[in-house]
Amino acid sequence: MRDRAWWWRGWLAEAAGVLVPASCAGCGADASEVRLRGGVCSSCRPHLEPLPVEADDRSLGFTVQAALEYRGVVAAVLGAVKERGRTDALAALAPALAASVDLALALARLPPGPGVLLVPVPSSPQAVRRRGFRPVDDLLRRAGHPVSRSSRLVLARSVRDQAGLSSSERVANLHGALRARGPFEGRPVLLIDDVVTTGATLAEAARAVTAAGGEVVGAACLAHTPRRHTGGSTTHR
Ligand SMILES: [Zn+2]
Repeated sequence: MRDRAWWWRGWLAEAAGVLVPASCAGCGADASEVRLRGGVCSSCRPHLEPLPVEADDRSLGFTVQAALEYRGVVAAVLGAVKERGRTDALAALAPALAASVDLALALARLPPGPGVLLVPVPSSPQAVRRRGFRPVDDLLRRAGHPVSRSSRLVLARSVRDQAGLSSSERVANLHGALRARGPFEGRPVLLIDDVVTTGATLAEAARAVTAAGGEVVGAACLAHTPRRHTGGSTTHR
């Protein structure tokens, strides 16, 4: 029942954004002065186009794809979606995640379809209540992929905000925080997240999936923070 209420809140926020587009989610330009498409103006749009998607070689045991660098317009639009309810701008971000997913599946030599599970890293229950929607799930749907309801990751306990923590602190903060729920045994899994920073969250997600018998074949993210940067630029989970 609460799920339904959240869905309606998200839908209403989106409808309000579409009916009364106030400003560009990227630069804040007033809607009366610029033409918005997917909540974003024509000057900001090019910043959201997927770059030649970069493979990440962090020592996770699988490759991580990310189509955008998390800064400037990208950070502003994602922040507007997550912290100001600008779900209308999800449409402008979805092509980049779609590009990441496509490349990750190609590298894993897996066709899209029922064989591979696309599993979003979950938001905290507090964040879901505050926002009324799940940004990563919604982004994945907008990117043209279903979100599995039966096999998913959930938070097993609360964690501290990752922003400002060092790599080792992030690992300690997250260890054992996620749990895989539903059938994973023998299934190939592609992990999905919005921003990859140090890879600590993806490592914990992979641990939980592996513990449940799944096989992580890669990860596809919307954006990555510039290398060796572990400062406070992460949006709230
Ligand atoms: Zn703009």
